[in-house]
Amino acid sequence: ATPMAVMIGTSLGARAGILFKHAEAIEQCARIDVMVFDKTGTLTVGRPEVVEVAVAPGHTEAELVALAASVEAHSEHPLAQAILARSGPVARRAEAFANSDGQGAAGVLDGRRLLVGNSQLMRQGGVDLRPMTSAAARLQGGGRTVVYVSREDDLIGLFAIADAVRPSSRSAIDALHARSVKVAMITGDNQATAARVAGELGIDIVLADVLPGQKADEIGKLQAQGYSVGMVGDGINDAPALTKADVGFAIGAGTDVAIDSADIVLMRSDPGDVVSAMKIASGTLRKMH
Ligand code: ADP
Ligand code: MG
Repeated sequence: ATPMAVMIGTSLGARAGILFKHAEAIEQCARIDVMVFDKTGTLTVGRPEVVEVAVAPGHTEAELVALAASVEAHSEHPLAQAILARSGPVARRAEAFANSDGQGAAGVLDGRRLLVGNSQLMRQGGVDLRPMTSAAARLQGGGRTVVYVSREDDLIGLFAIADAVRPSSRSAIDALHARSVKVAMITGDNQATAARVAGELGIDIVLADVLPGQKADEIGKLQAQGYSVGMVGDGINDAPALTKADVGFAIGAGTDVAIDSADIVLMRSDPGDVVSAMKIASGTLRKMH
């Protein structure tokens, strides 16, 4: 684009709360044919809340909540914050806290190992999930994220956690489809929960159970199929994928790392602004030819 067109595009963007960090971002933005959205904090508001608890046979809700909170008291994860909001002040904190990237957290209380996290973490820990399979399936089918709690190899229960979809997510996806852009969702959350949210939003491609270190690889796979890929994210775990994508969009309310890794910053944290950015970009390119 001519310097004049870039200047106009940049200033139109700035007025709409869309920060193009460099001129190539405008040109690349007009060419995107697959837009990949992170789920938590991008398509959803990222303020998860516990909506249900279920206790395994032989245990109590008080026990479940206290054990989970003793581990999550050490964690910064939004799901940990949801569990702590439910538990109230934590009476006893676990020792030897460890984070299992993208799967959950672990600790030790009274010499016994506690795990708080997803089914992969439980399976790795040798915990039998069968007592709660049907409860989990029902909750995940409803779009809830299920967080299991175990002590040694004993399943104590689970938390069902909900995170509201941003009001503009659905219309953003419809507008991308109207421009013939394919839409994908990428998440560390499980397949069943992801499929439910994707179905609600009309998403074409679901990439679930993706570990933080694998998000950029998934972008690379789409690029290898010949697509020009946009990626929209908010978290530290999205940063490598934002860099790998042809165009990285950071949610303005997201982490500094995501903002630094992106080509475009959506200051209003509105997923619909990716469409506005594409419109401004196409207009700018038309002025150039
Ligand atoms: P996303 O990619 O959706 O932002 P993350 O990669 O942060 O998600 O986490 C992926 C999954 O790992 C979560 O859906 C959850 O099941 C589990 N998890 C990670 N950290 C925790 C934690 N502190 N407590 C419970 N579950 C966790
Ligand atoms: Mg996120």
